[in-house]
Amino acid sequence: MIRIEAVNKWFDDFHVLKDIDLTVGAGEKVVVCGPSGSGKSTLIRCINRLESHEQGLIEVDGIELTDDNKRISEIRSEVGMVFQQFNLFPHLTVLENCTLGPIRARGLSKTDARALAMEFLEKVRIPEQADKYPSQLSGGQQQRVAIARSLCMRPKIMLFDEPTSALDPEMINEVLDVMTELAESGMTMLCVTHEMGFARRVADTMVFMDHGEIVEMASPETFFSTPKSDRCKDFLEKIL
Ligand code: ADP
Ligand code: MG
Repeated sequence: MIRIEAVNKWFDDFHVLKDIDLTVGAGEKVVVCGPSGSGKSTLIRCINRLESHEQGLIEVDGIELTDDNKRISEIRSEVGMVFQQFNLFPHLTVLENCTLGPIRARGLSKTDARALAMEFLEKVRIPEQADKYPSQLSGGQQQRVAIARSLCMRPKIMLFDEPTSALDPEMINEVLDVMTELAESGMTMLCVTHEMGFARRVADTMVFMDHGEIVEMASPETFFSTPKSDRCKDFLEKIL
């Protein structure tokens, strides 16, 4: 579903992504971790063109990402993204946050969009919050709305960028549980997270990034039991 080959990116003189190779197969779950500033967000933001890469190939579901706006919108319509900050529309209710995309971008009727939104709000276990505004919800609830909103667009791939790192500890699990269920439903997922319990449960492949490079890529069993590089060992010691 995602093919990244020899991708390089710079912010001016700063080489932020260095020869990145990564593939994510259909239904595969890849978890990316690594120190702050290592390029994790930049990498996943390149996949839906929130950032552009200067060299190499990025292909999503067979569509190569270029400057062509038609391709960019095709790719964006297949890729859902959930951020650390929930990015909900504050002036819209939970339900309206979820129906906006399907109505505007998918041409659904209001009735169909509401039915779809309620289905996903039930999946993330907050149907009773549908008529509230984001500010009336806890962080964990807001993040679950963000996930439901994304799923309402029927993405083939979900990207997560540290979805629980802005949450109070007691709310982390309610979001990880929803993500675990999504993983079990067969969704293709690329998740940046330092929640290693979640990673052990759902990841098919673990990736460790440092200084813009993929330093290590392995199955969770190998990754956690026998990390190869000192950089990865040090990192795991710090967070586990
Ligand atoms: P991570 O998500 O692993 O913490 P990021 O991808 O956010 O890392 O950032 C990688 C590096 O690129 C950091 O040093 C950051 O300061 C820098 N960076 C990120 N975005 C920009 C930008 N828009 N302009 C310049 N530098 C940036
Ligand atoms: Mg980041």
